[in-house]
Amino acid sequence: MAELNKVYEAKKVEDRIYKLWEKSGFFNPDKLPKRHKTPFTILMPPPNANDPLHVGHAVFVTLEDILIRYNRMQGKKTLWLPGADHAGFETQVVYEKKLAKQGRSRFDMKREEFYKEVWNYTQKNRKTVKEQLKKLGASCDWTRDTFTLDAHIIKTVYKTFKKMADEGLVYRGERLVNYCTKHRTAFADLEIKHETRKDPLYYMKYGPIVVATVRPETKFGDTAIAVHPDDKRYKKYIGKELKIETVVGKRTLKVIADKEVDPEFGTGAVKVTPAHDANDFAMWERHKKEIEGPLQVIGLDGRLNENTGLYEGMKVEEAREKIVKDMKTKGLIEKIDEDYEHTIALCYKCNNVIEPMLMRQWFVKTKPLAKEAIKAVKEKETTILPKNYEKIYFHWMNNIRDWNISRQNWWGISIPAWLCEDCPKDEWTVTDGKKPTYCSKCRGKNLKQDEDVFDTWFSSSQWPFATLKYPNHKDFKTFYPTDVMETAADILFFWVARMMMLSIYQTKKAPFKYVYLHGLVRDKDRQKMSKSKGNVIDPLGVIDTYGTDALRIALTIGNMPGKDTAISEDKIRGYRNFVNKLWNISRFVHLETKDYNQNKRPALSVKDKAILKNFEKIVKQTTKALDEFRFSHAAEDLYHYIWHTYADKVIEDSKPILNNTKTRAARQYVLVKVLGDSLKLLHPFMPFITEEIYQQLPLQKKQTTIMIESWPT
Ligand SMILES: [Zn+2]
Ligand SMILES: [Zn+2]
Repeated sequence: MAELNKVYEAKKVEDRIYKLWEKSGFFNPDKLPKRHKTPFTILMPPPNANDPLHVGHAVFVTLEDILIRYNRMQGKKTLWLPGADHAGFETQVVYEKKLAKQGRSRFDMKREEFYKEVWNYTQKNRKTVKEQLKKLGASCDWTRDTFTLDAHIIKTVYKTFKKMADEGLVYRGERLVNYCTKHRTAFADLEIKHETRKDPLYYMKYGPIVVATVRPETKFGDTAIAVHPDDKRYKKYIGKELKIETVVGKRTLKVIADKEVDPEFGTGAVKVTPAHDANDFAMWERHKKEIEGPLQVIGLDGRLNENTGLYEGMKVEEAREKIVKDMKTKGLIEKIDEDYEHTIALCYKCNNVIEPMLMRQWFVKTKPLAKEAIKAVKEKETTILPKNYEKIYFHWMNNIRDWNISRQNWWGISIPAWLCEDCPKDEWTVTDGKKPTYCSKCRGKNLKQDEDVFDTWFSSSQWPFATLKYPNHKDFKTFYPTDVMETAADILFFWVARMMMLSIYQTKKAPFKYVYLHGLVRDKDRQKMSKSKGNVIDPLGVIDTYGTDALRIALTIGNMPGKDTAISEDKIRGYRNFVNKLWNISRFVHLETKDYNQNKRPALSVKDKAILKNFEKIVKQTTKALDEFRFSHAAEDLYHYIWHTYADKVIEDSKPILNNTKTRAARQYVLVKVLGDSLKLLHPFMPFITEEIYQQLPLQKKQTTIMIESWPT
C-alpha cells in the first residue's frame, strides 16, 4: 500500500477526480445504482452565456452541489440539471459594447447577421462556463445540459404564449411603457431604477392659470389642464376651454377636475400629457369622453417629433432649454423653482432617463396567475427560506401589475404573432410557432410577424417545466415538481415569482417544494464587489492557488439564508489550512493502519466506545443541519470536530494506544471508522480531497466513488 503524499496538491488532484466522477456516470440519475429510487431535483439557475463565472456563481454552485451530493448519498435519485441563459437584453448590451470597440454598431448590421454573431459568441462562452462549473466540482448531469434557446425550450414557450393568448391572459395593449432611447427598448416596471434628483420646476402661464412642470418640452402633447375638484382657486374654470398663448402660437385647452391632482403641488394646476406621463395617461383614461387622447411628441430616438414645430429633431434636454428660453422671451414663465426634488426613473443598464413611451406591446394579465402563486405558498406547497421572504413575496404578488413581455431587441426568442396587413384594424394571429397561412379574422394572406422578442424572463419563467419536457416526457413525470430552487435573493421577483406563476399555470403544480435564497457576496469590509473598486475575487484564480475545496468551504461557513456573505482571500487561505489538516490526519491514520485487518472486528475499550458515541452526535447534528438547509452550521461543526476533537484529542491520545499491541487493533478500527465517516460527512462540502483520501483508505465495502457511499447514520 502506497503512502499518501506528504503534501496535498489540489491542482494535481482535482481534474483527475472530476474525470473519475464523470466516468462513473453517476451525475446522471438514470445511471445511479438501482437502490436510488426517490427523485431529488434541483434546476441550476442557468448562468448568462455572455461572461465567465464570478464568485457569486461559486456560491450557488457550492450550495446546490452540497444538497445534491448529500441527497445522492442519502440514496436519492438525484438530478441537478445544468443550463445556460441566452440572457436576451443583457447579452445584447455586452455584445454591442464589443461591437463599439471595433467601431461597429448593430444599427449598421442586418438583424440575422447580428443574431448569428451573438449566437457564436454565446456558444463559445457556454464552453468556458461549463469548464468553470467543472472546476468548482459541480456534480450536475451534463447529458441534460440545456440552453434557453434550445428547440424544445422555444417550443414550450410558444405553446404557453399561444395558450395564454387563447385564454385572454396575454393581450395587445397600448400603454405607456418604460423606454430607454439609448437601448431602444421597453422595460418591465421591475427593471427600472429610481433615483431622487433636484431639477428645476417651471411655472408656466397657460392663459389665466399657471401650471408647474419639470418637463416643459412635452407641452406639445398636452390635452388638458387638471385641477382638484374642490380647489376654490380654479372652480370657475372647470369644464371651460381656455385660450392660451404658446411658443408655437395660440391653442385651446380644456380644464378638467380630477381627485388625483394634488392641490399642494406647484400651483395646484397641472398640464395633462397622456403620451408622456403615466399619471396623465391614467387621468386621460378617466376622462376619455371629455378630452383628446395621447399625442406623442417625442420619438423612439429620444428627439422631439413632427408635432413640435420648430423644435422637431431636438433631443429632450436641448429642447427643454430652448423652449424655456423662448417662453421667457414671450413672458410665459412666471418663475422657476431651481431646487425641486423629485424621483425619476432610469435605465438600469445605462442610467439614461426613462422616457414613458406610448407603444403597442404584449402584456401578461398577471392578477389571476399571482392568485394561484400566492395560494401555493400560503398552503405550503412551496416554502420560501428564509421565511421573512414569504412576506415580501406576498406583498409583491398582491401589488402586481400587468407584465410587458415585448422587447425591441434582436437577441431573443421572436414572438409567434403575425399582424394582418389587410384588416383595417390591428388583427393578430398567434400560433405555437409556425407561420400562419392566413389571418384568423379576414383570411387575408398578407401577414407580417411581430418584430419584437420576448422578455428573457418570460421564457426563463418556464424553465422548470420546459427543461423537464412538459407534458409527456419521463423526466417531467419523474422529476417534477422539483425539490429545491436555490438562487440569489435579488431575483426573487424577476425569476422565482414568475416561475411560480407560469409553472402553476401550465402544470397546475408549484414547481418547487423549497425556495432557498442566498445573499450577495461582499468583500471583507462588506463592500459590494465591483471591477472598478478592484475588490473582485476571481473564483478560478483562487482555485488555482488554494484549491476548490478551500473556496467552497470558505463560501459555506458564515453564509446564512437571505443574508449577504463576506469573502476574502485570507478567509480562503484559512480554510486551505483546514484542507491540509484533513490531509495530514488522514496521512497519519493511513500510515498507522497498514497492518489493519478490516475483516476482524476487535473488542473495543470504554475509551474507544466513547469516541464512537461522541461521533454519532456529530453525524446526527450534520444530518439535521443539512435537512434544515443550515449549511454553515453543518460545515462549522464538522470543521471544529475534525480539528479540535479528532486531530487534537483523538489522534494525540491514540499514539500510546497504537503502540500497545493489545489495544492497537481496536484503536485502528476506531480511527478508520471515524475518519471514513467524517470523509462522507465532509464530502458534500469538500468533494475533491475527501474523494482522494477515500480512494486510499482501508475502508470496508468500498464503492467506486465516495459520491455513492451511504450517508452515515
Ligand atoms: Zn439604456
Ligand atoms: Zn386580416
